[in-house]
Amino acid sequence: MPSFDANKVAQIHQHLHSHLPSDSALRVKALETVLVQKGLANSENIDRWVEAYANDVGPMRGAQMVARSWLDADFRHRLLDDAAKAADEMGFSGPASGHLKAVENTDVQHNVVVCTLCSCYPFSILGMAPNWYKTAAYRSRVVREPRAVLDEFGVQISTDVAVHVWDSTAELRYLVIPQRPKGTDGMSVDALVKLVTRNSMIGTQRELSVGA
Ligand code: FE
Repeated sequence: MPSFDANKVAQIHQHLHSHLPSDSALRVKALETVLVQKGLANSENIDRWVEAYANDVGPMRGAQMVARSWLDADFRHRLLDDAAKAADEMGFSGPASGHLKAVENTDVQHNVVVCTLCSCYPFSILGMAPNWYKTAAYRSRVVREPRAVLDEFGVQISTDVAVHVWDSTAELRYLVIPQRPKGTDGMSVDALVKLVTRNSMIGTQRELSVGA
C-alpha cells in the first residue's frame, strides 16, 4: 500500500506552483483566448503589438527625446514646457503621451516616477513597463522611503541631493531627463541615444555609463 507523506505532497504542490505562470499572466492569457474565440482579436496581431512596444517603441523613443534635449537647448525648453507637444513634434504621440511631463535631474535634484494607484506609464515613448514598476512593493515603498528603494537599485543619492517622487495617473505621466554623462562632448545624437537607459528615464538609475 502506498504511503502518504503530507510534507512530501506539500513540497510537490509547491514545486508545481513554482512552474505555473503568475495569476496576472493567466488572466491575460484567458482574456486573449476569449477575444480570439469571439473574433475580436487575433493572436498574430497581439504578438506583433507586444513585439513593437517591447523592442521598437521602448525605450528608444524616450531615449531619442532625452539625447536631443542634451544637444538642443531650444528643444529641451520645449520638452520641459510641454512634453506632450515635444513628443508630438518628434512624431511620437500616442495614447499614453497625451499628458506627459518631463522632469530633469540636476546636481541638486533627482527625480523618480511611480504610479501608486496602479501602473500608469508613458508606454508611447518608453514601451512596456518593467514588472517591478507594477509591484505593490515598489509602488508603496518608493513614496515612503525613496532613498532606500533607490539604494536597492544600486543608486546611492547623497544627502545634498533632493529626491522628488512623481506619482503618475492616467491623466499625467512622467519622463525623467537624466543628466548627460561627462566625457560625451562631440558625440552624435545616435551615439548619445544608446547611452540612455529605460531605468534612467524612470529614475531608478542616476548615472549613465559611457561605453563599455
Ligand atoms: Fe496607474
